Amino acid sequence: MTSFNSLPLLPPDPLLGVLAAYRADPRAEKFDLGVGVYKDDAGETPIFRAVKAAEARLISKQNTKVYEGPRGNLDFCAAIERFVFGEAANVANRTVSFTTPGGCGALFIGAGIIRRMGAKRIFVSDPTWPNHPNVVRANGLEVKTYPYMDVDGALAREALFEALENAQIGDGIIVQGACHNPTGIDLTLSDWTRLGALAKSRGLILLIDCAYQGFAAGLEDDMTGVRACLESAGEALIAYSCSKNFGLYRERTGAILALARDANTAAAISSHAADLARASYSMPPAHGAGIVAEILSDAGLRADWESELNAMRARMQSLRRALAEALVRETGSNQLARLAHETGMFSLLPINAAKAAQLAQQDGLYMPSSGRINIAGLSDAMIAPVARRLASVL
Ligand code: PLP
Repeated sequence: MTSFNSLPLLPPDPLLGVLAAYRADPRAEKFDLGVGVYKDDAGETPIFRAVKAAEARLISKQNTKVYEGPRGNLDFCAAIERFVFGEAANVANRTVSFTTPGGCGALFIGAGIIRRMGAKRIFVSDPTWPNHPNVVRANGLEVKTYPYMDVDGALAREALFEALENAQIGDGIIVQGACHNPTGIDLTLSDWTRLGALAKSRGLILLIDCAYQGFAAGLEDDMTGVRACLESAGEALIAYSCSKNFGLYRERTGAILALARDANTAAAISSHAADLARASYSMPPAHGAGIVAEILSDAGLRADWESELNAMRARMQSLRRALAEALVRETGSNQLARLAHETGMFSLLPINAAKAAQLAQQDGLYMPSSGRINIAGLSDAMIAPVARRLASVL
C-alpha cells in the first residue's frame, strides 16, 4: 500500500535559509550578500520606470484574458529572437521561440527537449547556479560537471575543454551566457567559437542560459560570444530570462529559443517545445511578456529602459572596483583584485561553509555557504565594513 508517509522530507533551500537568518538577526548593523536580486543603494529592488509606464498602457488597452496561444506573446518572441540572434542574423526559418514562465521555465523545456533527443546526461559547470542540476535531475537525466574556475580564480579553460572533449555523443551541455553565476567569470569570444565547434564536431547539444544580458558590458556586447558560438555550432537551444534585465522577477518572463540547421528541424523542435509546455503549464503567463513587448516597440520607453539598465551596470561595476580595492588593502594581497573585472551580480570568494557561518554569527554578514557574494547587495557605505569583515576570514 502506498502512502504519503513514504515521501522523505527534503532539506530546505540553503539560500532561503540565509535570507531567513538575516531577517531574524536583531543587530542594527548587518549585511545581506546572499539573495540573488539586484538592489539599489537603498537596498531596494526597484521597478524600472519603463516597466511601470508599459504596464499602465497594457492594462488600459487590454480587453480580454483569453489564452494567447502556446508561444505566448509573438511580439515578445520576435523581440527576444532579435536580442539573441542579432538584428542582422541570417537565420530565417531556422529559429524557434516560445514565451516561458521565466528563465527556469525555459531551462526546463530545454532539458526536456535534450532528453527527448535521447540524451542520458547533461553537463553543467562546476561551480554553477544550484538550479541547473535540479532541472537536469527533474528531467530524469544524470548531472555531469565540467571544471570552470581554477585555484587562482580564473577560467579553468583547458580543464573545461578537456572535460567536454571527453563527453559522449548526444550529451547535453548547459553553458551560461554573460555574467556567470556564481563566479562572474565569462568565456572569451575565442572560447565561445571553440565551444561551438567542439559541440558540432563531437555531437554535443548546447543549452545556452542567458539570464543577465546587459549586465556585463552592454546589450549588444553581451551577446557577441553567444552569437559566435551559434555560428560555429550551427544549432543550439537558448534559455532567456527577463527577470534581471527588466526587473520582472515575479512576473515569470522568459523564452526558450532554438537555432536549427534547417526549417524542418526547427519545426520539429517547435512541436516538442509546444508538447512539453502543454503537459506542464500549458500556456505561458502573459503579463511580463506583454510589458517587454510594449517597451521594445516604443522608442521612448526602450531608450529609458536601456538608460536605467546601463546605470545599474555602471553601479555594479563601481561597487566591484571599490570592493576589490578595499579587499586588496585589507588583506595586503592582490588575490581578490580580480573582483573588479568580473561581470554581473556575483563573484565567488574563497570562503567555505564554516567561515560563512562564522561571518554570519560574529559579524552579521550573510552569504551562502558556497562563498558567493551578490555585489548588487552592497552600497558605497557598506564597502569598508564588509571588506574588513571578509578580510578577517580570508
Ligand atoms: N539562470 C541563471 C544562471 C540564473 O541566475 C537565473 C536567476 O537567478 C535564471 C537562469 C532564471 O531565473 P528566472 O527563472 O527567475 O527567470
